[in-house]
Amino acid sequence: MKMSNMLISTLREVPAEAEIDSHKLMLRAGMIRKMASGIYNYMPLGLKVLKNVEDIIREEMNNAGAQEFLASAIIPAELWQESGRWGAYGAEMFRLKDRNDRDFCLGPTHEEVFTDIARNEIKSYKQLPLNLYQIQTKYRDERRPRFGVMRSREFVMKDAYSFDKDQDGLDISYNKMRDAYIKIFERCGIVAKPVDADTGAIGGSGSAEFMVKSEVGEDDVVFCTNCDYAANIEKAPSTPEKAEKEAYKEINKIETPNVRTIEDLIKFFNTTEKKFAKTLIYNADGKIVAVMVRGDREVNEVKLSNALGGVVDLSMASAEEVMKATSAQVGFAGPINLKVDTLLVDKEVANMYNFIVGANETGYHFENVNYGRDFEGIVGDYRNITEGENCPVCGGKITISKGTEVGHIFKLGTKYSEAMNAKFIDENGKEVPFVMGCYGIGVTRTMASIIEQNHDENGIIWPLSVAPYHVNVIAVNIKDEMQMKVANEIYEELKALGVDVIFDDRNERAGVKFKDSDLMGIPMRITVGKKVTEGQVEFKLRTSEVENIKIEEVVARVKEEFEKNKISIR
Ligand code: ATP
Ligand code: MG
Repeated sequence: MKMSNMLISTLREVPAEAEIDSHKLMLRAGMIRKMASGIYNYMPLGLKVLKNVEDIIREEMNNAGAQEFLASAIIPAELWQESGRWGAYGAEMFRLKDRNDRDFCLGPTHEEVFTDIARNEIKSYKQLPLNLYQIQTKYRDERRPRFGVMRSREFVMKDAYSFDKDQDGLDISYNKMRDAYIKIFERCGIVAKPVDADTGAIGGSGSAEFMVKSEVGEDDVVFCTNCDYAANIEKAPSTPEKAEKEAYKEINKIETPNVRTIEDLIKFFNTTEKKFAKTLIYNADGKIVAVMVRGDREVNEVKLSNALGGVVDLSMASAEEVMKATSAQVGFAGPINLKVDTLLVDKEVANMYNFIVGANETGYHFENVNYGRDFEGIVGDYRNITEGENCPVCGGKITISKGTEVGHIFKLGTKYSEAMNAKFIDENGKEVPFVMGCYGIGVTRTMASIIEQNHDENGIIWPLSVAPYHVNVIAVNIKDEMQMKVANEIYEELKALGVDVIFDDRNERAGVKFKDSDLMGIPMRITVGKKVTEGQVEFKLRTSEVENIKIEEVVARVKEEFEKNKISIR
């Protein structure tokens, strides 16, 4: 396309609203524009990249034997009521009513819809296995939309649903998706690692998230420095640090006026945080529960929720609720004489000796407390693993990095098929529920992640596979007839070959054209300038030096790049 006919919306200034590089660059390159919080319009340049990413996903999904589908984005409430999620989904769901006062939502995900399709369309085991996918707009009224299309309220997702007759079948379907995802992200030019993920208390039997390492990521990902182990911190099991054995001492109530935080306590008792156990009070779906972890540890709310049988709404208890449970102000909670529905005790705490806890009395703590002798609870793993701890697989040291989830694969099992009575006739003539898997990729988030991993101070560096245009042919001086003629010929020749090429024929200074080209991240630039009189043009890769090339050789040079990247010219 000729740039004189295109909507070019590049910005020189860095927009104040953007915090992270990909968001800044998507705005500056003119890929997206914001309409409302977390709601974006895709400009022509952004849409081209989106379509390219979609094409890669589509190709690999088809190669893996999945079939494309397109469901409606508007979903009747009844389906969600059947699965029990109409209530459970909470405020993140965009809900609406039609003119007859019937409830609908804008689909945040489509398990219910695809389970409904399966129960209507699939009658026999002979029709299985089946994997249906769609690339579709999803709606989630996120609490904190941010980072542009990384976490938006309207976004494009590829979601797939597999239907198998048994668990072995599901394992095969799941592994096919895992392999397809690895290929997809590789082809998109990003490093995305599958990591173990939580499946929830009633969730399925296996789950992996595809994570890209990123300082602005909202997930903590645990990696082993010795083996291949990688997991979301939500899931990674912790190993209790062994406390030095001591003889039990007599429990003692100590007056601790205004000593509330762990820091205050360390000073007051002149000891380390390893000698304290903190008792945190939560409201879990309306029930008041407590969890104890060592003074320096963080409670893992996913582990907590799972231990409580899959709590949906978990929040720190209010000061009033704390007062009710502990008969004391916030800061003096402890396990002795505590009035809660459930007391969960991290296994590290259960192995400590003579430690300090709140006394459930404002201004007092107990010292020399011991699990088993002085109190009891449900012992388990309720805390986050920490940097330097042992790998749960090989014992090596673990490190923790920030990550962003670009994809998620999940063995659902029969969770939805049972709830929604989605059954088929098996080999024995028996009606049994489908064994399901679901598989998502954040398409727009992937696009932002590609930029996050591929950019420099001048702009985006698109991998050839997803670039909005492969080549930018620039005429330095559009008033120079020879330059325009040669540039136009190269442009036409590349176009005829199927190369996605733009011709910068705008009446702008060369510097402006170069800056725009780099900002938009076009992988190859052909500059037709003064040397055209000597039969030469400049060829430049986005991050390499200029090569002077004979006019008649420049098209071959472009083809060479496609070959090097193992990409066929479309
Ligand atoms: P997150 O923990 O980031 O909210 P999620 O677990 O809610 O993600 P899924 O329900 O598994 O996400 O959705 C599948 C994919 O959709 C995610 O892996 C992610 O890439 C993408 N995604 C989810 N929410 C958003 C959003 N608000 N904006 C853009 N992409 C999203
Ligand atoms: Mg989410």
